[in-house]
Amino acid sequence: MKKHNYSAGPCILPQEVLKEASASVLNFDGLDLSLLEISHRSKNFVAVMDEAVALVKELMEVPEGYSVLFLQGGASLEFVMVPFNLMKNEGGKAAYLNTGTWSSKAIKEAKRLGEVVEVASSKDKNFSYIPKGYSIPVDIDYFHCTSNNTIYGTQMKSFPQTDALKVCDMSSDILSRKVNVADFDLIYAGAQKNMGPAGATLVIVKDEILGKSGRDIPAYLDYATHIDKESMFNTPPVFSVYVSMLTLRWLKSIGGVAEMEKINQAKADLLYGEIDRNSKFYGTAAKEDRSNMNACFLAHEGVDTAQFDEMWKAAGISGINGHRSVGGYRASMYNALPLESVQALVDVMQAFEKL
Ligand SMILES: *Cc1c(COP(=O)(O)O)cnc(C)c1O
Repeated sequence: MKKHNYSAGPCILPQEVLKEASASVLNFDGLDLSLLEISHRSKNFVAVMDEAVALVKELMEVPEGYSVLFLQGGASLEFVMVPFNLMKNEGGKAAYLNTGTWSSKAIKEAKRLGEVVEVASSKDKNFSYIPKGYSIPVDIDYFHCTSNNTIYGTQMKSFPQTDALKVCDMSSDILSRKVNVADFDLIYAGAQKNMGPAGATLVIVKDEILGKSGRDIPAYLDYATHIDKESMFNTPPVFSVYVSMLTLRWLKSIGGVAEMEKINQAKADLLYGEIDRNSKFYGTAAKEDRSNMNACFLAHEGVDTAQFDEMWKAAGISGINGHRSVGGYRASMYNALPLESVQALVDVMQAFEKL
């Protein structure tokens, strides 16, 4: 039987998607060839790329004037590409909200190319909350934030107002809840948390913001290159794009992002309800900032968790060990994780409490 997969990333994908992907590795589109051994320029693969882009536009209601790209290098390369494309060569300055490890890495890269103002940071409390009430300078090239902090289990429930360009790393909650794309100028997300296998990065960028940094941008790092070549400047990660397309189809079939958001809310309510009720555990993130994707929790002082660890493993649960920087447990409830898997974990937590 398939495990209840709580892995933080790469992570669970819909079972039907994996089945169809497996079949296509052997025989794609009735071609008697593998998806992995045909040209990315064949009409069969171009149709995959086109459908993936069209589904992102449809599911996220991407307005006119934005390009949807499937790139490589993960979100980590976006940490570099964003400042290359948006930070002015002369006197470049950007503002970053620091909400965790990934934000910190993005800041580090941006600092190579210009001045970075850290508008606020929650490092003082091990990134267990989302800072609020900070002000964003006006003389900046762009503002950058991270919508969901995968490691610390916090999520921005709203985004600050600013007249500057707004950039967001949505790697770990893309397509999990409704987002008004028009509120952002650039959104990026590594595929491997809610969309598909590792290897592809989704970028949604407003065309008119490009070409203004005054930098000599290496071709590969220039979004304009990839827009011009429709994500086929070089060989795209065909498997990752294909499986992402299947996952997007699956998301559409269950009712799209609005329906997904309801299911994700139900899963989060169920698990956080138990974390708060159970006398042996407590949540680490500030309640109002809790992530619906990654729930971090610890056992109270003096609780011996060895038996709990045996119990959840015996129940077929996988991947709830916390990240080393928080410890304890982290249950990642990405789109493809069914409510029944959350119930299975809650059942184990309740049985453990009664011991
Ligand atoms: C996983 C993750 C990253 C890193 O993604 P890569 O694709 O491995 O570079 C960046 N940001 C967030 C929020 C993440 O969850």
